[in-house]
Amino acid sequence: MTDAQPSETLPAHGPELPISSVQVLSCGQAEQHKEHRYGSRLPQLWWVFFGRSWVPLPLQAFLIERRDGFVLFDTGLDPAIQFDKSYIKQAIGRFLLPRIFRFHLTQADRIDQILAKVGVASSDIRTAVISHLHFDHVGGIAQIPEADLLVSEREWAILSEPHPEREWILREHIEIPAAKWQQISFQPSDDPLFDRFDGIHDVAGDGSMILLPTPGHTPGSMSLLIRQEGWDPMLLVGDLTYEAALLEQYVVPGTGDRETLLASFAKVRRLKSLLPELVIVASHDFGAEAAISRAMRK
Ligand SMILES: [Zn+2]
Repeated sequence: MTDAQPSETLPAHGPELPISSVQVLSCGQAEQHKEHRYGSRLPQLWWVFFGRSWVPLPLQAFLIERRDGFVLFDTGLDPAIQFDKSYIKQAIGRFLLPRIFRFHLTQADRIDQILAKVGVASSDIRTAVISHLHFDHVGGIAQIPEADLLVSEREWAILSEPHPEREWILREHIEIPAAKWQQISFQPSDDPLFDRFDGIHDVAGDGSMILLPTPGHTPGSMSLLIRQEGWDPMLLVGDLTYEAALLEQYVVPGTGDRETLLASFAKVRRLKSLLPELVIVASHDFGAEAAISRAMRK
């Protein structure tokens, strides 16, 4: 292989493919402002207080079944955020939350119950990739104490910055004794497929699950590229966009750092130009399930 060409042989191939399935786990329903999902020229505080158009926001995580065990991509919310008035410690957060989200959760929306419904014990989750530290992605970590929780070093550093809770990163629900956090530092790669990214991290060591830094929604957000023979490659992008089509059209959502989001969009589009079959899967996209089953049906 010359270093001018992206790797043509799929990293995961042969008779014993490492991944048997990827499935969407529905972690409950909510609503967000239209300006939040689709972006707006208006300042965030305007739509938080005066926005009147609410749109549905599906809350989703992803379960990857591997030969060597189960991997979760994000962990959903803790329904306590809706039912327990003290879930958010800071008064300003308790005041703002219902102005940004409307939750329609039930107690069955906790990750251990969701996993039980698909026949998986939460103690069987040995690895969970955390795309970023927002409360709707880390809410289930207390239910999966056996899991190594992979987070980017940059995302973890937010916890040491002033007032992470103002960015909806709730330290008291992240730095819990049971959680086995593991910080990921991205390593340089000579695969031209990844030349625009600031390094990669090969989760399983077989090339089937590659973590890529895709900052913008938060400074340390990351995406997971899943590749194996017979499937279209999939890129789980977390909240880089709320809908895959919006990323492809460069429509930036109403939160996050606009310039950094656009730079990450360009990196993902470059990856897609090298992997034309690439299926982009966003955590809050109603189309996620259909996109994944299309990718696996090949
Ligand atoms: Zn989210």
